[in-house]
Amino acid sequence: MVYKLTQWLRALFPSHCRLCGTATRAVPDLCRSCREDAPWLENVCSRCSFPLPACRDDALCGRCQKLAPAFDATTALFHYRPPIDHLIKRLKFSNELAISPLLSGLLANRLVARDAALPALLIPVPLHHTRLRERGFNQATELARGVGRKLNIRISHRLCARNRNTAPQSLLTHNARRLNLRNAFTVTTDRVPGHVAIIDDVMTTGHTASELARALKRAGAKRVEVWVIARAG
Ligand SMILES: [Zn+2]
Ligand SMILES: [Zn+2]
Repeated sequence: MVYKLTQWLRALFPSHCRLCGTATRAVPDLCRSCREDAPWLENVCSRCSFPLPACRDDALCGRCQKLAPAFDATTALFHYRPPIDHLIKRLKFSNELAISPLLSGLLANRLVARDAALPALLIPVPLHHTRLRERGFNQATELARGVGRKLNIRISHRLCARNRNTAPQSLLTHNARRLNLRNAFTVTTDRVPGHVAIIDDVMTTGHTASELARALKRAGAKRVEVWVIARAG
């Protein structure tokens, strides 16, 4: 009903594509040609969504074969490349919160289309409170709100916290990145549902998600998925 109403309103009042600005009736508001040109991920590692060259079912990337992350599966929509990286930066650093419904809408559409059980709880990757204060919002929480509303899944806001204001991962070497995140998260309950999903905007090395998944599994989760908009690599 709500969906029909949205379609009807959109037919009367077209919106504008968030990328190129042309009028569009698409929901979420990304016009057809921007949608077709977007850097969608296709062949990926079944565990961490790292881009893979060949199309194989259930293929694992070299890194997951060597040392599997603590999470079980990843859904990622795009390569972290233009123009998607610009959209994500506009959301994060220019406070363009209107981009969040577009990105969360695209992610929700993908999750509805797959034939798999949905988690009982969504967990946005927490920001350290210092960074949250600087930015004023957590982009992962904004994305989780949109996905949770569309898929009818609860969001956890206070179930876990970031202990330290860790150094930006991009400034560190590979090994230093892993150490930088050790015990970075505290889960404040031991009754985490069996199946949960972590939400973030971008996955880079996967260490942050893996560290959070490890903390969630220590607190009772059996299956932890990671849902992100874009995958770097
Ligand atoms: Zn467009
Ligand atoms: Zn992998």
